[in-house]
This record gives sequence, C-alpha cells and structure tokens, in this order.
Amino acid sequence: MKQKRETRYFVEVYGEESDAVKTASKEENRMAKILIIEDEESIARFVELELKHEGYDTDKAFDGREGLEKALSSDVDLIILDIMLPMLNGMEVLRRLRAVKDTPVIMLTARDAVMDKVSGLDAGADDYLTKPFAIEELLARIRVALKKKAGAGTQESGEKMTIRGVTLDADRHEVTVDGEDIELTNREFELLRLLMKNKNIVLNRDKLISEVCGYDYVGETNIIDVYVRYIRTKIDDRFGIKLIRTVRGVGYVIREDDRES
Ligand code: CA
Repeated sequence: MKQKRETRYFVEVYGEESDAVKTASKEENRMAKILIIEDEESIARFVELELKHEGYDTDKAFDGREGLEKALSSDVDLIILDIMLPMLNGMEVLRRLRAVKDTPVIMLTARDAVMDKVSGLDAGADDYLTKPFAIEELLARIRVALKKKAGAGTQESGEKMTIRGVTLDADRHEVTVDGEDIELTNREFELLRLLMKNKNIVLNRDKLISEVCGYDYVGETNIIDVYVRYIRTKIDDRFGIKLIRTVRGVGYVIREDDRES
C-alpha cells in the first residue's frame, strides 16, 4: 500500500516527467525554500506544484498564525503571503515578521485592492501580485526577489556569456538564442550555465550532478542526461544546432568552435 501511495503522489506532483526528474526534485536541497501562506487550498496546492516543478523546496500554511510560526521558526528564503487569511491576516503576519526578519515577501492581493498593495508595500512587502495571476508571473517575481536577496550582501555581478548564438545572462536568469527567449527550468538553466562557463572543458556526470542537484544527491544517475535531453529539445532541435556534445563514457561539453554543427 505504501508503495502505491507514493507513486500516486509522484504522478500528481510531477505529471509525466521521467523517474530521474521526480527523484531529483525530491532529493534537491540546494534550491531556495519557499513558504506559501494561503488559506485557499486549491491555490496553495497549485502554487506548490509549480514551485516544486521548478525545483524549489516548499512549505505551506493555511492560516496566518501557522504561517507566521513557520516563517519565524524555519529557514525560509521567500514567503508568498495572501492578505485575507483566517486567525491572523496577511498584513499582521507581515508586520510581526518584519519586526524580526527581512525574509522577502510577495503578497497576494484581491483584484483592484489598491489599499492592500499600498499598505503591503508600506509594511515591508517586497512585491505583490493581484489574483488571479499567471504562474509565470509569480515565478518571475520569485526569481527577482531571490536575486535581490542574494545580491543584498555582495555586489558581485552575474555572468553574461554568448556561445554560438546562445546567450545566457545569469543576472536576469535569461537564455536567448539569436535573440529569441528560451524557457528553461532552474536546473536546466544551471546545467547550461556550468557548461557555458566551462566551455571547451568536458565535465563529467558526477561533477555536473553535484553542481546541479546538490552534493548529497542520491537519486538516479542518469539525471543529467535527462536535463541535457530537455535542453536539446528546447535549443538544438528548434534552432538546428548541436550545442551540447556528448563525450561517450565521460560527460558533456560545449565547444566554442564546433565545426560539426
Ligand atoms: Ca485568502
């Protein structure tokens, strides 16, 4: 029975992706942890699925009191906070949180509730989104908020690299091919960034797994092959290039000057 339940969970959470990807998302712990405080369970659940799919670690709370407790007691990198909540409303959660912590907060407000937005930002929210929102919009706001947080202490600038028409901008978390935007998941992006940064150097699978999936990754060993395949579908197939080369028995490389492609 236990096995059965677990399988169903994976199907619900990860849809039709391969086993390797399911395992990776589960084992991954290098990614940011996001707390969703939202009493509408369908929204909370949907957001959680999407965040997990992107590789984020998540936690949920369905009322303001539980949310504040989790926000204060655990190591959370970002909070998605609904305003209308039972027990303690979102504004109050934010005020109490800000008295002790500066965890980035993205508030969810009802449509056209201008006052909410203003008071939310005044109370120290980093950003807000109006319901109903597109999940892509939320993901973009999350990336911005996390980047702002990461850059708060240092002024280190991200890399911008171009190899054979493929440009990766780490600061903006963007990949373009001949000026066209490519949508990559966080792990696909990280894998591409590593290969581009180490251009002309063959990186073995172990190295790539530890960098992309975390050092204590214990899942499927073909995980990197799966991500490479996804990247090839999104870039190589579409633009008729051979960007990532397989070096049999070793790993992968991106060559700056690849005559064969
Ligand atoms: Ca609500």
